[in-house]
Amino acid sequence: THQGKQSVVTVDQPIGMAAGGGEPVLQSKTKSVCVVGGGVAGLAAARELRREGHAVTVMEQSGDVGGQWLYDPRTDAADPLGAAAPVRVPSSIYACLRLISPREAMGFSDFQFFPTDGEGRDPRRFPVHRELHCYLKDFCDAFGLMDAVRLNT
Ligand SMILES: Cc1cc2nc3c(=O)[nH]c(=O)nc-3n(C[C@H](O)[C@H](O)[C@H](O)COP(=O)(O)OP(=O)(O)OC[C@H]3O[C@@H](n4cnc5c(N)ncnc54)[C@H](O)[C@@H]3O)c2cc1C
Repeated sequence: THQGKQSVVTVDQPIGMAAGGGEPVLQSKTKSVCVVGGGVAGLAAARELRREGHAVTVMEQSGDVGGQWLYDPRTDAADPLGAAAPVRVPSSIYACLRLISPREAMGFSDFQFFPTDGEGRDPRRFPVHRELHCYLKDFCDAFGLMDAVRLNT
């Protein structure tokens, strides 16, 4: 049994299922939680909050989840620093970027970043940026997170 600031965990065994997530939940007191940002951190937070039985909404300003890993071609435009015409691009990822961390260091501990077959996938240990975005979409699908995400906020 654990006592938290906001909530009380009274059991060590699952007592129900998270709304929409399909995962066992560990506590009985549900709160409505807003997570700002649908990048790696926001998605992981949303998944953990749901797992604890909270009602989560993720507010993401971009048109998709992924944060830095949602490539925006404006990064590679003629004026990449926006000196002449400033633009707001949440991601700094550029077209030819490959990960500097290996797969095994970038995946979530219980949802590993394994190579996957499929069109546009990159099985290399240090893949191109798109592969991580695909992985994050797989993570959302696996835990039913997209129904908690509001895009273009
Ligand atoms: C060029 C580059 C290469 C990198 N390479 C690696 C690498 O190889 N390995 C590695 O581990 N890390 C790398 N990183 C680090 C990368 O930042 C992290 O992997 C990861 O993306 C950080 O996730 P995050 O969720 O903290 O932030 P972000 O990915 O930045 O996500 C933040 C999200 O919050 C949203 N947001 C912000 N403010 C608001 C608001 N007010 N309302 C709504 N939404 C909002 C943004 O749109 C964004 O989607 C790299 C970063 C860059 C820029």
